[in-house]
Amino acid sequence: MKARIAVLPGDGIGPEVIAQGIRVLHTLAERFGHEFELTELPFGGAAIEACGDPLPPATLSACREADAVLLGAIGGPKWSGPEARVRPEAGLLKLRAALGAYANLRPVTVHPALADASTLKREVIEGVDLVFVRELTGGIYFGEKRRDAHSASDLCIYTVAEIERIVRTAGALARARRRHLTSIDKSNVLETSRLWREVTTRVMAAEFPDVKLEHQLVDSAAMHLIRRPRDFDVLVTENMFGDILTDEAAMLAGSLGLLPSASLGKGRSGIYEPIHGSAPDIAGRGIANPYGTLYSVALLLRLSLGLPEEAQALEAAIGAAITAGARTADIAVPGTRALSTAEAGAAVLSNLPRRT
Ligand code: NAD
Repeated sequence: MKARIAVLPGDGIGPEVIAQGIRVLHTLAERFGHEFELTELPFGGAAIEACGDPLPPATLSACREADAVLLGAIGGPKWSGPEARVRPEAGLLKLRAALGAYANLRPVTVHPALADASTLKREVIEGVDLVFVRELTGGIYFGEKRRDAHSASDLCIYTVAEIERIVRTAGALARARRRHLTSIDKSNVLETSRLWREVTTRVMAAEFPDVKLEHQLVDSAAMHLIRRPRDFDVLVTENMFGDILTDEAAMLAGSLGLLPSASLGKGRSGIYEPIHGSAPDIAGRGIANPYGTLYSVALLLRLSLGLPEEAQALEAAIGAAITAGARTADIAVPGTRALSTAEAGAAVLSNLPRRT
């Protein structure tokens, strides 16, 4: 097949991990007989430096025209001080909104060989297999922001339609998995959460009666996530709660560097990115973990390009590399030599199937 992929490396470790994603896409194209046209575009801090805009119009239009967007990470201290007039994060929010990418899927699984890389006990995390569905284009991150000399406020607002569509995404996903959906809110305090709970209950009862629905308050969900993570299947929640809980859930897998994400809207296209940020503390040293990016490439192949065999081959190759001990510093066994980002990428390439 022919596919156009817009590649946005971004800042910090973004370009380092994306370089491995590009290698893998080229190799898969060659071995499976596809034509992937990859176009690298400026985005985030790098784009602010180049033209003063974190999402230049040419980058946005290339993303709109592409079959999928592969993104590294954006941001860094250079653009985050209180004096910063334009921030890289503004570009990311604008891109998600412009592409209508309202559903952020974040699968979390624990590779058996990495159970000891987590700070949690092996017996708690072994066998974890859950997916977060985070609402991505509404809530407090997008509501009106105000500031005067004495106060500041961020409006948290959700419409019924916004909740319905994300619950449908989560319900369909749960139906294809273990038929268990946990909806997370703060309905004992927030009006938006009361609406969230009402709409979720209604949509699930009417359209997904075969899926078990459970409601949890965000504070106790945060606790249960590390106490009994195996009990979760699909979790659906609003933008900010999802942002926080998915970083917590990343620690089940052992490192932020392992987890992928897909941000989807109505059509087939989507934005695929590792869940981590630009990691300025390790940027430029070639030691970042590329596996979250490579798992994101697998999601891209499956969900936007409709190539499940290629996606599965890539996931198996990452799994095989990890089993064989190909570990970057964040997941390395103490006392052993950690692989560089490029070496970890090469370990995955060497486990991809040859063309038959
Ligand atoms: P971060 O995810 O960049 O880093 C947190 C910690 O995890 C750091 O110690 C880092 O070294 C480590 N880490 C992250 N990814 C790793 C990888 N692939 N391999 C090994 N270790 C890894 O979060 P932060 O430090 O809070 O934020 C840094 C910058 O990234 C900020 O400017 C923030 O706004 C931005 N950010 C961007 C995104 C995004 O692009 N979607 C997401 C989160 C944060």
